[in-house]
Order: sequence, then C-alpha cells, then structure tokens
Amino acid sequence: MIIRPKVRGFVCVTAHPTGCAANVREQIEHVKRQPAIEGGPKNVLVVGASTGYGLASRIAAAFGCQSNTLGVFFERPSERGRTATPGWYNSVAFENEAKAAGLYASSINGDAFSNEIKAQAIERIKADMGKIDLVVYSLASPRRTDPETGEVYRSTLKPIGADYSNKYLDTDKKTIQEASLEAATDEDIQNTVKVMGGEDWKLWIQALKDADLLAEGCKTVAYDYIGPEVTWPIYKDGTIGRAKIDLRRAKDAINESIAGLNGEAHVSVNKAVVTQASSAIPGVNLYITILFKIMKELGGHEGCIEQMSRLFSDRLYKSGSPVPVDALGLIRMDDWEMETKIQDAVTDVWPKVNTETVDTLTDFEGYQTEFLRLFGFGIDGVDYEAEVEPEVDFQ
Ligand code: NAD
Repeated sequence: MIIRPKVRGFVCVTAHPTGCAANVREQIEHVKRQPAIEGGPKNVLVVGASTGYGLASRIAAAFGCQSNTLGVFFERPSERGRTATPGWYNSVAFENEAKAAGLYASSINGDAFSNEIKAQAIERIKADMGKIDLVVYSLASPRRTDPETGEVYRSTLKPIGADYSNKYLDTDKKTIQEASLEAATDEDIQNTVKVMGGEDWKLWIQALKDADLLAEGCKTVAYDYIGPEVTWPIYKDGTIGRAKIDLRRAKDAINESIAGLNGEAHVSVNKAVVTQASSAIPGVNLYITILFKIMKELGGHEGCIEQMSRLFSDRLYKSGSPVPVDALGLIRMDDWEMETKIQDAVTDVWPKVNTETVDTLTDFEGYQTEFLRLFGFGIDGVDYEAEVEPEVDFQ
C-alpha cells in the first residue's frame, strides 16, 4: 500500500515502515560519527525503548558503546491493513541494524508495569545476557494498571492549586489560542504520581536485584524535565511535576538499595524535544516551537539522539570522572536549553507570539517536520510514492 500521514490533533494514526527505518539509521549514523565511548556498559536494559528518549538511549548504548540491549516497549503491530505504531517499526529496524553490526539485540512488547513482563525480561536476560550494567527507564504512559491490585490509574496534565490559562499552539489550524485548565484534585495528583512517578522504576530494579542480575558498579537512569517558568504551572508545578518529584525520591531509594553493588541511580533532566509524549502537553508545544527557533539561531539545538549521545559520553560514562550532577544531585542535559541567553530570548518572544506572528517568531515548520518524522514521514531518501508492505516483523 501507499502510506500517507493522517494527523489527528497531536497524533498521527499512520506510520511509514521505510521512513521509520531511515530515521533509526540516521540516529545510528549520528552516534557513529562521535568518538567511541570507553568503559561503557556491556549489557543494557531499556524500558520504554521504542520511541523518543528511550530509543535514542538504546541507539547511543548499542552504537556508541557496543552494548547488548534488551528493549521493552508497548507498541501495536500492523493488523488488517492498518499500519503498525512507529515504535514497532523503529524497534524492528533497530534490531536489524544492531544484529547486522554483530550486537545482541532483543525486544519484549508488552506492559512494562506488569509482573509478567518483568518476569519475561528476567528470563531473557538470564538466558541471553548475564548481568545488567545499565537500566534506562524511559516510560511515558497515560495509564498504569497496578500489578498487585489490578486497579487502573490515569495520569493527567493539570495545574495544582488554581485553574490556569495560557496560550497554546493549535498545530492543525496553525493558530495561537488561549486554553483554560482546571486545577487538579488530590486524586488527580496521586494518580499521576502512581503512573509517572518512581514506583515502577523501583520495582524493576528490585526485581533485577532479587534475581541477582545487577552487575557490580551498575547504573540506572530515569528522565525528568524542569523547563522555563512559562511552563511551570502545567509542568514543574503541575501534576506531572509531582510525579517527577517522586521519581527523584525513587532515585534516592534505589541508590540505597544498590549501594552494596557500588551501583548508582541517576535522574537526568533532559531538553524539551518533539516526541509523542511532549506533543500532548498543552502549551509545551508552543514553547518548543519558540525554543527551537532560538536554539537553531543561537546554537546548541539538539534532538533526542544528540542529547542521549552526549548523556552517555559526557555524563554517564565520562572518562575518568564521576557522573557530573548539580547541587540537587541531578544530571543536567538541559544545560544548553536553560542558558540565560536562550531563556531571555524565549521570555522576550513569548508575549509577542500570536496567530499572525507564529511563522516569523517560532519554528512552526521545523516543529511540524519533526512531528511527522516521529511517524516516518518527510525523511530524506524515502520514496513515499512507492508501494510498501505495512506488515513488518522481528526476525
Ligand atoms: P515517548 O512517548 O517517545 O516514549 C515512551 C516510551 O514508553 C515508548 O517506548 C512506549 O512504547 C513506552 N511505553 C509506554 N507505555 C508503556 C507500557 N505500559 N509498557 C511498556 N512500554 C510503554 O516519550 P519520551 O518523550 O521519550 O519520554 C520518555 C521520558 O523522557 C519520560 O519520562 C519523559 O517525561 C522524559 N522527558 C521527555 C522530554 C520531552 O521533551 N519529550 C523532556 C525531558 C524528559
């Protein structure tokens, strides 16, 4: 079939297998152009490995450090003429490329929050890999089923304390509009912490530790975002921000639990980038379009792969140095985003952006291009007029 993008709000309901594979190859090529990383991890588990920061982490580990990788994700294969989700195509492409490069790569598709998937991962690691040197935890999910009680929790993106209204970008209509968001209830806060907080990260590490599958000196990292004041009511000070506070608490608890192995748990505060998760956050997409224009002009613009490649080479496996962290013990990959000159420019532009100025003051086009690339569209060298088989499977 010939596959075209079908965008519905902040998702695209189709994905292009050849385009997704080309996107994965571009990321691999980026990592291969960087200097080799000495002392990287041999065996890596990535939870949330199929898109965004998790996929980029997997690529940085495999092609920057020659790591064996096990990827866990929740994606949908192609069925009855419907295309698969991009994470499915990305993961098939990643495995093919890794195996062609002589690297072990294996994947588990299922609910990472469940006991069953943790048990499957443990069996696979025992059978194929040996002990794990790095666990990357990069889940972004709207819901979680508690593995013990079966109760389903849904995360929300809401302000806390008071209703909040601010500008947002309607990407379908290319207009700037005002959106009002109702303040979260206590239940919203607790539910969001349950889904996006640190509980499941701790459960993964505990399960691996109980199975004696964590290597001496192992590391684990989960991802966080802080961002500028203009997004704080909806992000840092909102329900998702509470979940991130919980993630940092989990880091401290994990550090205690793996101290006997000389292990290290880290939280890395990453840059705002276009992913399926970030495009769903109201107001954040407008900030990203402004940020991209400024960072492309002033320098330091990065996407997922540039960030993760730098996380591995300059932070997690920086030669001869402990992992550099800030006063709160966090890895700061948002260092360039948060530079004063960048944020001053954002603050200057924010009030001036409206429907008339969106083209001149923001990188709307760059944002749209990035968004479609997530689904394998608009990638150089891909013939989108060619017939393509949507059913692609792991070898
Ligand atoms: P993403 O949507 O691109 O990726 C989410 C991943 O989680 C996918 O691999 C998906 O398959 C997997 N997943 C979701 N539910 C699952 C489940 N139940 N079981 C197994 N796998 C599941 O998201 P992303 O933007 O890369 O976010 C990853 C992390 O990075 C999040 O913690 C996010 O808060 C953080 N982060 C993102 C940004 C950003 O701008 N995108 C910035 C800083 C930090």
